[in-house]
Amino acid sequence: MPPTNAQLLEALRTVLDPDLQKDLVTLGMVKEAIPDGHGVKIVVELTTPACPMKDRIRADIEAAVRAKATATGTSVESINIEFTADVRSANERVRSDSNPLPNVRQIVAVGAGKGGVGKSTVAVNLAVGLARFGARVGLLDGDIYGPSAPTMLGLDQIGTAARGNMLLPFEVHGIRAMTIGKLVDSDKALIWRGPMAHGAFKQLATQTEWGELDYLIVDLPPGTGDVPLTLSQLLPLSGAVIVCTPQQVAQDDARRAVRMFQQLGVDILGVVENMSFFLGDDGREYDLFGRGGAEVMAQTMGLPFLGSIPIIMALRANSDAGTPLRNWEDPRLATALDRFVKNVASQVSIASFGNRFVQPTLSVS
Ligand code: ADP
Repeated sequence: MPPTNAQLLEALRTVLDPDLQKDLVTLGMVKEAIPDGHGVKIVVELTTPACPMKDRIRADIEAAVRAKATATGTSVESINIEFTADVRSANERVRSDSNPLPNVRQIVAVGAGKGGVGKSTVAVNLAVGLARFGARVGLLDGDIYGPSAPTMLGLDQIGTAARGNMLLPFEVHGIRAMTIGKLVDSDKALIWRGPMAHGAFKQLATQTEWGELDYLIVDLPPGTGDVPLTLSQLLPLSGAVIVCTPQQVAQDDARRAVRMFQQLGVDILGVVENMSFFLGDDGREYDLFGRGGAEVMAQTMGLPFLGSIPIIMALRANSDAGTPLRNWEDPRLATALDRFVKNVASQVSIASFGNRFVQPTLSVS
């Protein structure tokens, strides 16, 4: 006879989510735990479809159920574990009246200390990568001075559409995207005074009909200007991903970007090293810029390192052609991108869940 529902729940109370360091029952992740014929059926709801810990959680559940069966003199012939996913809302501000995007669960900014480090490339591939795992994803091209989305997403032939006073996002490559690049003449220099930059960004963010989203990825302008300030005041951010290349000068700029977000009260989800090394068609890896520099920077600043993305010709070609999904045709690139995407998803879960389990403190003034 297999273990009972109560025995299974006892077993699952011993299985920790490796990221959140709480057991699956306490976290409310166990949706079903029942005897099923000669075996058991367990349904676990993860905090993201891009969970990097799925295999480990599965192995831990199997071990805990078998141990419980031995301890209780029951038997399990088969353990059928099903995973579903529900991306949780970032924090209480998400539900508050002042939040202009209540249907968006997690908002992740992608920033960089300076231009040309691959910030937009990373933002596009983060969005598309999360969508490939099954999440509902939006991409806001907030780089209002130099929008890249029209090219990188191949929006040239697609017209803009609106419903009432709301813009409809472009539905491409499994995501919903919006960019100022499709609303203004693309060859014109985009010069915005401070208040105009604020207004343009705000309109793009809040007057787009995003619908229900698990993640909204916001590609910010490089550096430490007006837009990050507007963003952090306007929307409840889950955190920021900092893109950095390995060179010392890039690290210095990235450090400034990190400090800016911290000053704005935005969590840093971590640092990703782009152009980490050159991956040649001969299969060899060439260290051009001092591979690992951004990782060391992340370590010294006490920030999570989210992964390394190599320089690969296909990545540049697919960006220029507006075909980001083709990046997953190269297994080496696919592996690097998926690792990065999963790490971001996991840090987002930690940031939002972690906060929920922080004991409230009483402040006396
Ligand atoms: P940023 O947004 O930081 O200004 P972009 O994302 O626009 O940078 O990237 C600059 C250029 O470098 C683009 O042509 C892009 O295709 C290319 N690029 C970025 N990252 C890589 C990479 N890892 N491998 C090859 N090309 C890359």
